[in-house]
Amino acid sequence: MVDATPRREVGRGERVLPGVWRLRLPLPWPGVPHCNAWAVAAGDGVVLFDTGMHAPGSLAHLERALDQVNLRLEHVRLVVCTHAHSDHYGQAAPIVAAAGCELWMHPNHEHMVRSFEDPEATLARRLEVARQSGVPAEPLRRYAEARRGQGPGIAQIVAPHRELVDGVVVETDLGPWAVHETPGHAPSHVCLHQPDRRLLISGDHLLGRVSLYYDYGWTPDPAGEFLDSLDRVGRLDARLCLSGHGRPFTDVSGHVEANRALVAERLEAAASAIADGRRPAVEVVPEVHGQALSAANASWWLSETLCYLEHLERTGRARRIPGEPERWEVA
Ligand SMILES: [Zn+2]
Ligand SMILES: [Zn+2]
Repeated sequence: MVDATPRREVGRGERVLPGVWRLRLPLPWPGVPHCNAWAVAAGDGVVLFDTGMHAPGSLAHLERALDQVNLRLEHVRLVVCTHAHSDHYGQAAPIVAAAGCELWMHPNHEHMVRSFEDPEATLARRLEVARQSGVPAEPLRRYAEARRGQGPGIAQIVAPHRELVDGVVVETDLGPWAVHETPGHAPSHVCLHQPDRRLLISGDHLLGRVSLYYDYGWTPDPAGEFLDSLDRVGRLDARLCLSGHGRPFTDVSGHVEANRALVAERLEAAASAIADGRRPAVEVVPEVHGQALSAANASWWLSETLCYLEHLERTGRARRIPGEPERWEVA
């Protein structure tokens, strides 16, 4: 008999380098089974980079992962978040409370605060963008219904005690980690670079498997910002990447290149989709992704495609034609 029950994911901890531990924490998302928090030795405790998502029982997963490497929440001397997405920030409040430590994060975290404090307004805005992009009413209604059933993945808002901007340094036993602002995936995104050991804590900016996602609607050109951030991280010449999901990986510059190539490919696909006529964004999505929209990917892919169209607009290659729906044509 085949056991159809999915394997229950639990928090797991493992040492990656002397003084560096990977804490792998489960996520409830299809296709993204877990995320990483990274503990780095610092004096008599650790700096914790990222937190995992908040959900019923989630703190126990973090405690279990810490316990496997002989650490406890009380050892956390500082929480550093690479960005304000729920899987990287969601448990910041209970960790900070348990450890009595500070939280450092980039100041552009309004995208998270607004959606936490007013999820209905965030959803309404997202639905309006989708409607304007040509998504029909019935799938929108179903999406809204499913969305309302999901929690924010964030326990509570805790404001950063210190703003993680260029020039800030996080001290650890492995040496200082320099903050590099890397917006694109999220406006609040930073990477942390340890130059002597050539280590990079990359959050979701750089993952072992190329996976593009941009927060839409907070900054003028997320895809362009992401490309600039890739340039910036590429120049660091890191040797080992500790990313927000998946195993650590080497060949950091190869991963930078692969991201750049996929962005370029999708930009060209968006440009050629509007080459033979005015089209709403919803019709551009399948050409960018090579697949039709589904309920599971619609919001992600539509936002991503809009980011490409707006990048083409900013670089003089596309024009937006206001209307219901809004359409796009070659400039
Ligand atoms: Zn993220
Ligand atoms: Zn993530």
